[in-house]
Amino acid sequence: MRTAIYPGSFDPVTCGHLDIIKRAAKLFDNLIVLVSVNPLKSTCFSPEERMDFICRVTKGIPNIQVDCDDGLLIDYFNKRNADVIVKGLRAMSDFEYEFQMALVNKDLCYKAETVFLCADVVGTFLSSSMVKQIALFGGDISSYVPHEIETDIIKGVKRLNKGNI
Ligand code: ADP
Repeated sequence: MRTAIYPGSFDPVTCGHLDIIKRAAKLFDNLIVLVSVNPLKSTCFSPEERMDFICRVTKGIPNIQVDCDDGLLIDYFNKRNADVIVKGLRAMSDFEYEFQMALVNKDLCYKAETVFLCADVVGTFLSSSMVKQIALFGGDISSYVPHEIETDIIKGVKRLNKGNI
């Protein structure tokens, strides 16, 4: 049984993330979508809200678990006895940081392989921050986020001021 972990802020999950989730779920026996909680990073949605969004949009996919963790990814990886870390790559700008993270994780734990999946064409320019900015100013986010959570994202973004985007 191969277990993969797809970590991220998912603040909130977008269609780009969901595309990676669906593809990774086909490649591995189990996929854990991990909401990483980083106290240094301010977010718009609480970890519980972010997990709830992911659960709602992945409801039909049987081999997915959604979890949340505030520690080091590699400690979680070992705790779950996982095999692979999945990352999505949008553009070369993602590559440098993700490459560094993959090397650090491998150094911390030799068995931790990182597998990169390329974003699809639309996902290439899509980010959670962009979705929040469009929603804040009343723009149409319907092609960027799964429809089940669109209204909740708009509500959540409106309760914040621009500093938290
Ligand atoms: P963001 O950079 O939008 O805050 P996250 O930290 O939630 O994203 O990203 C988690 C993972 O998903 C990272 O590997 C990131 O490169 C990838 N990812 C983010 N947005 C997309 C997208 N639109 N398409 C494919 N992969 C993505």
